[in-house]
Amino acid sequence: MRTARIAVVGSGPAGIYAADALVRAEALRVHVDVIDRLPTPYGLVRYGVAPDHPRIKSITGTLQRVLQHDRVRFLGDVELGTTVTAEELDNLYDAVVYATGAAHAQPLDIPGETLPGSWSATELVSWYSGHPDSAATISLDVSSVAVIGAGNVALDVARLLVKTPAELAATDMPTAVLECLAGSAVRDVHIICRRGPEHARFTTKELRELGDLHAAGVVIDGNELPESDAELPPTVRSNLAVLRQLAARPGHDRPRRIHLHFWQRPTAIIGTTTVTGLRLEGTEPTATGGVRGTGTRETLPVGMVVRAVGYRSTALPGLPFDATRGVIPNDGGRILDDTGRPWPGRYVTGWVKRGPSGVVGTNRACAVETVQHLLDDLTTRPPTAPTNTHPIDRILASRGRHVVDFHGWLRIDAGEIELGHTTSRERSKITDWSTLRRLGAATD
Ligand code: NAP
Repeated sequence: MRTARIAVVGSGPAGIYAADALVRAEALRVHVDVIDRLPTPYGLVRYGVAPDHPRIKSITGTLQRVLQHDRVRFLGDVELGTTVTAEELDNLYDAVVYATGAAHAQPLDIPGETLPGSWSATELVSWYSGHPDSAATISLDVSSVAVIGAGNVALDVARLLVKTPAELAATDMPTAVLECLAGSAVRDVHIICRRGPEHARFTTKELRELGDLHAAGVVIDGNELPESDAELPPTVRSNLAVLRQLAARPGHDRPRRIHLHFWQRPTAIIGTTTVTGLRLEGTEPTATGGVRGTGTRETLPVGMVVRAVGYRSTALPGLPFDATRGVIPNDGGRILDDTGRPWPGRYVTGWVKRGPSGVVGTNRACAVETVQHLLDDLTTRPPTAPTNTHPIDRILASRGRHVVDFHGWLRIDAGEIELGHTTSRERSKITDWSTLRRLGAATD
């Protein structure tokens, strides 16, 4: 059978689903190297999915089985652009699939965004997920926090800020993060939604969780909920049903509270040396589905602001990038060059292909589409690379790189499980590069 050697850059769900689709190909025997900048695989499942969502995180079991396939290799701690370039990958592989996600925060572009105490959700999520690049020094000595955005990330952040130590005890968060949350002074978390409840991007399951919090209640102004939802899609109707239930049992008297504010947009984060408030303006819908300000203004006194207004991808060295849409220009996963023609051998999948939307599973169909096009193209481009050697290994070794392979990841995994046991937990994240590299690149 004909063989091919493919590189996948990015080991989050998008990249691993692509690797899975590649090794399942029937007409070709495909060998896949999954390359990642980090010494650990699983991308946003490891560093984005909320630590109190173990069921979603358990997808790592499925992803791990793909990395264990005898024609798949994991090459961690290998960074595109510094360790190896896109041009080099073009020469080393029959095709390359870019699956680098959208790890950066969408800017809000309002005054005060960079004040101490104003964090992007990406920074906060990286902190509580134990990302080795997290430099955030979060202090929860404030009583009120505003979270801007009506998406699931805003819900994740708000929920984790009001959970009790008992509710967080089973998570894999770094011990220092758990201690910070246990000593938190936060009592009120305000979620700021610039449109109405019927436009929010929350999913119903995540909204429902707000009703099950041990110490926190939810405060919603029932008047903000539409009276009739007969014309609305079923997903919106089920969100509204949950919001009505929450509004019917207001949580004013609970020790902690999540307040949902609709039809409000942030206009400035205020404070001199640190955040002291969030200036808001009332909004109303426009005919085109957007919002405009009503001129009604108020200032919410908060000591911290978290901007959860979406993720964005950034340009990768050596690859085209559509800065307006925040994606690599592509046609069904085939990367397009500056003239709009497919760039032979280069493909893209996941959030950097279609933008930051959808749940983890959405990436499977996305990867299948890309891989189908790649395989179609390979039938007209005869594979050139022999697959019994791994020329990238020589290049990486010549650059003094100690790659973290799958066994290296298993050593990190075991190290985290051992660390977790010291605090009677199943796992505690290892957060520093030196330990990850020491465990991951060690030779047995
Ligand atoms: P998102 O779902 O796109 O939500 C972003 C929110 O920010 C929207 O409500 C948006 O409002 C608002 N926004 C954008 N710009 C704004 C501005 N300038 N001022 C005020 N508000 C602004 O993004 P996300 O929450 O980051 O989630 C990303 C993806 O991950 C989503 O597909 C999400 O479902 C998924 N995710 C899933 C889970 C889960 O399944 N448990 C958990 C986390 C994330 P408009 O709608 O008005 O633009």
